[in-house]
Amino acid sequence: MSAIADAPLGAAEAAAAGSAEPETLLSVKDLRVTYKLGGGLFSRGRGEVKAVDGVSFEVRKGTTFGLVGESGCGKSTTGRAIINLTPPTGGEVLFRGEDLATVKSARMRELRRSIQMVFQDPYSSLNPRMRVIDSIVEPMDIHRYLTKEQRFERALSLIERVGLRADHLYRFPHEFSGGQRQRIGLARALALDPELIIADEPVSALDVSVQAQVLNLLKSLQVEFGLTYVFISHDMSVVRYLADDIGVMYLGKIVETGSSEAIFSNPKHPYTQALLSAVPSTTPEGRRERIILSGDLPSPKNPPSGCVFSSRCPVAMPICSQRAPLLQRVGGQNVACHLYDEE
Ligand code: SF4
Repeated sequence: MSAIADAPLGAAEAAAAGSAEPETLLSVKDLRVTYKLGGGLFSRGRGEVKAVDGVSFEVRKGTTFGLVGESGCGKSTTGRAIINLTPPTGGEVLFRGEDLATVKSARMRELRRSIQMVFQDPYSSLNPRMRVIDSIVEPMDIHRYLTKEQRFERALSLIERVGLRADHLYRFPHEFSGGQRQRIGLARALALDPELIIADEPVSALDVSVQAQVLNLLKSLQVEFGLTYVFISHDMSVVRYLADDIGVMYLGKIVETGSSEAIFSNPKHPYTQALLSAVPSTTPEGRRERIILSGDLPSPKNPPSGCVFSSRCPVAMPICSQRAPLLQRVGGQNVACHLYDEE
């Protein structure tokens, strides 16, 4: 992603305009997703996997919150739990003050109109046997949104807004490239005029040049429709391009959170520092010494004791495997690391 690695940091329109701090649209508090294990004929006892373990963050209206970390860190499960596709086992997901984790299913159905998800592989949200027009109109049919004529007009305006043509409405998904399919996925996600979009690795399956085009499209759609994004990605350079605020996840936990500017200019957590050291830079001052982490992400079935990063941390101390660090304010961000404990 060197083409966008040094792009300017994302910034909320409201903040850029110098207006008051945008209100909080989504507040995730101590979110947990735990899976029970074992019980099979040949399994050795029971246990549990904490896929998401006490995740908290806030997303301001009209901004982008980037959730970043290696594959398997729990960021996609967090995104799915926000929208209840994976039911949370604990915590709160407050959307405009209403807890999505506990609302009744009828109310959740209403709220789902305002919250849409975009997936890495748009094929997973596009029925291969449906023409594009039907895929875009379908959510409006389900939610009885607009009249029949207005649904068609909206589909037409959205397909053009995402950079495709009116005649594309009558084709099938297999007739498009990956980038075009993602544009169709965005048009479908916008059909119900949502406030919040959870985008799970929306560009990671695309070529670099196409990634940049889709990211630019996401930015312009955000301004035009006043959208708020939770943008999930393993790629720091992609997150930097879009995010106003960032949460860095490791093994089900947030280890650092703060503004994009604070995290990119002065990362505090050793894991964030390692992730950023891998981001290519085209300017000498932007280059960082590469930090290579040893080993793979541990299994969430058997996480390290104390700090979850202790088995790979290049600066681990004896206390790190004894006691889990809590998120604490360090400079402009919140960091879970014993390096910043007060004596
Ligand atoms: Fe490394 Fe210890 Fe900080 Fe964890 S708490 S990131 S192991 S220094």
